[in-house]
Amino acid sequence: MPRVQLRYAFRLYPTAGQQAALGRAFGCARVVYNDAVRARREAHVQGLPYPKLGLLSRLLITEAKRRAERAWLGQVSAVVLQQALRDCERAYTNFFASLRGERQGARVGEPRMKSRKDRRQAIRFTANARWSLTACGKLNLPKIGEVKVRWSRTLPTEPSSVTVVKDAAGRFFASFVIDTDPHADTERMSETDQSVGIDLGLAHFAVLSDGTKIDSPRFLRRAEKKLKKVQRELARKQKGSNNREKARVKIARVHAQVADARREFCHQLSTKVIRENQAIAIEDLPVRALARSKMAKSVHDTGWAQFIDMLKYKAKRYGRTLIQIGRYEPTSQVCSMCGHHNGPKPLDVREWTCPACGTVHDRDVNAARNVKKAAGL
Ligand SMILES: [Zn+2]
Repeated sequence: MPRVQLRYAFRLYPTAGQQAALGRAFGCARVVYNDAVRARREAHVQGLPYPKLGLLSRLLITEAKRRAERAWLGQVSAVVLQQALRDCERAYTNFFASLRGERQGARVGEPRMKSRKDRRQAIRFTANARWSLTACGKLNLPKIGEVKVRWSRTLPTEPSSVTVVKDAAGRFFASFVIDTDPHADTERMSETDQSVGIDLGLAHFAVLSDGTKIDSPRFLRRAEKKLKKVQRELARKQKGSNNREKARVKIARVHAQVADARREFCHQLSTKVIRENQAIAIEDLPVRALARSKMAKSVHDTGWAQFIDMLKYKAKRYGRTLIQIGRYEPTSQVCSMCGHHNGPKPLDVREWTCPACGTVHDRDVNAARNVKKAAGL
């Protein structure tokens, strides 16, 4: 099985002092990033070639530290600052690739200056930053100290780098990059000759060609309802008021809960599908087209994109085949038994009988069977 890079995120509980040190590190990384953006913009204005990473590193980190107005850069790990330069480099690479039309997905804008008020702050420590996991399970970060971690699962192998993130709800996370172990993966997911088609319906989160119907769990639906409620509350608060700021933080917290619950649900479902099947067929999800339509109101749409992403990387990791079929296939109009084309049906028709062969179809299960067929499974 192939080697794949994975991310594992865990909640961090830094002390007040460590939060201050992390705040300084976020700030320094941000300043170096912004200095790099500025240097590139100035080079562009003067018609000069874009400055290389090595030059920026010398100018914006090593030499900058000797100047009074940047001396405080010395308070944080140099690796964190180097990584900020790399982030800036990547942002420009993506921007230019997008300009040339070489990048899939949404258009990437010109890198912008980062702000202290950004909702998400992040710094990265690579292998040569001398960070470590202590014997008692703490995360030891250079110039920050030993930070308490809530280990919700075990890391399969030694991580190669760690990103520390502060989210909009003010929570801290450590996100580790892990290279998967192909041998262990083979042990974990034994071969199977099963295959499955998946329909992403409206009445359920997903329906499988074997007749299984999967709804998002009740705790997730409850959290989503709560999110709608706090969003309505925010809309009523006056702009710039203290109450509005309080409501905003509350929303960020509920958002985070919904996102966590959804991710966990998608993880469990995608692992189950990958474990049980050698080949999986699923419809392409036109995410951007969907977002503009009424279906964006569906509680499922964000989850679907995440679910498909997880199926993709897990299929790659565990040597399974994932086949995506185009949306143009009329999966709900054709009898999966005899192939009779029965025409479009209103959404409220949940069950129908094929006039050609007499099979009684559940709308979604029939669609899932057609997805499987269309993929040649
Ligand atoms: Zn039929």
